[in-house]
Amino acid sequence: MKQPAVTTSQVETLKAFFGPKLKKDEMMGRYSVMQVGGPADYLVIANDGKELADWVRFIWEQDIPFLVLGAGSNTLISDAGMREVVIINKAKEVKFIDENSESPRLWAESGASFGKLARRAGSKGWSGLEWSAGIPGTVGGAVVNNAGAFGSNVAETLVVAEILHPVGDRIQRSKWSVDQMAYGYRTSSIKTGDHPAVVLNATFQLYKSTPKEVKGRISAISEKRQGSQPQGASLGSMFKNPPGDYAGRLIEQASLKGTRVGEAEISLVHGNFFLNHGNATAEDIAALIKLAQEQVKNQFGIELELEIQFVGDWEQG
Ligand SMILES: Cc1cc2nc3c(=O)[nH]c(=O)nc-3n(C[C@H](O)[C@H](O)[C@H](O)COP(=O)(O)OP(=O)(O)OC[C@H]3O[C@@H](n4cnc5c(N)ncnc54)[C@H](O)[C@@H]3O)c2cc1C
Repeated sequence: MKQPAVTTSQVETLKAFFGPKLKKDEMMGRYSVMQVGGPADYLVIANDGKELADWVRFIWEQDIPFLVLGAGSNTLISDAGMREVVIINKAKEVKFIDENSESPRLWAESGASFGKLARRAGSKGWSGLEWSAGIPGTVGGAVVNNAGAFGSNVAETLVVAEILHPVGDRIQRSKWSVDQMAYGYRTSSIKTGDHPAVVLNATFQLYKSTPKEVKGRISAISEKRQGSQPQGASLGSMFKNPPGDYAGRLIEQASLKGTRVGEAEISLVHGNFFLNHGNATAEDIAALIKLAQEQVKNQFGIELELEIQFVGDWEQG
């Protein structure tokens, strides 16, 4: 996919606005859980909610192409890097709301670690997010992707997300309910591009339990993960499960587990996890994705749909 480049006059605007905070030619592998990705022409790191909101609003109002990334745990970044301005989201504040109510809530900025919220809530004896323990992405990535595991997902727990989005010729701050997200299996209207928006923070509904019970459930979830998923640099599940089946099972049945391209491998432990053993490139991983899709289609007539997203400059990559 061809990426819109930032124009020379937009570069001057960015330099004037961000000063030394604007990084040039930053290697994206540093910002990817899978540790792949070439240089971003321009990148900034938002360290709190105000920076995130102010910067997104500014860049959007200038009509400068940009992409917000959280932990980079669901995105395969091209070896050719990113032509859009990359905003790395590290806005991490977390607050406990309605502590004395039977149904307390947890508010988190979108750069907070999603997979760590359950433990934080559990320390207060609050239940409801145990299923998410160990998901390596941010709250923003989880809200956009409707992250889910073990039969639960964000759509069931989210109360409201505060977002920035274009409305007419203005960039507006709004509160979106679950309905407005138009959630589906690992998707939302933000992910599909139907309603472009940046998630600033999210509020989750929780329930009173005890620290011991929550801790027990998190331990059980962690054990299940460790028993079924490989260790090492991956993007989690590469493909969505097709209706009534499992992508991992189909890839295994196609005898593809253990297949390597360069230092990328389809895991021997779980067919839907692809690993970077050290120096894999995005092209290596993309080649394995293509191979899995072709083989599963040829052998079972099933189209495997990606759960992860390709981002960056794939036309030159
Ligand atoms: C080992 C492993 C296990 C995993 N297990 C699970 C699992 O059990 N369940 C599951 O659902 N996923 C799982 N994942 C995938 C991944 O962690 C989740 O999809 C996660 O929610 C992605 O968050 P992120 O911050 O890394 O997103 P990124 O990869 O940084 O971004 C993903 C997309 O979201 C957009 N985005 C990110 N933040 C924002 C924001 N604030 N506003 C608007 N758009 C934004 C990006 O532009 C991009 O399009 C796993 C991944 C790994 C590596």
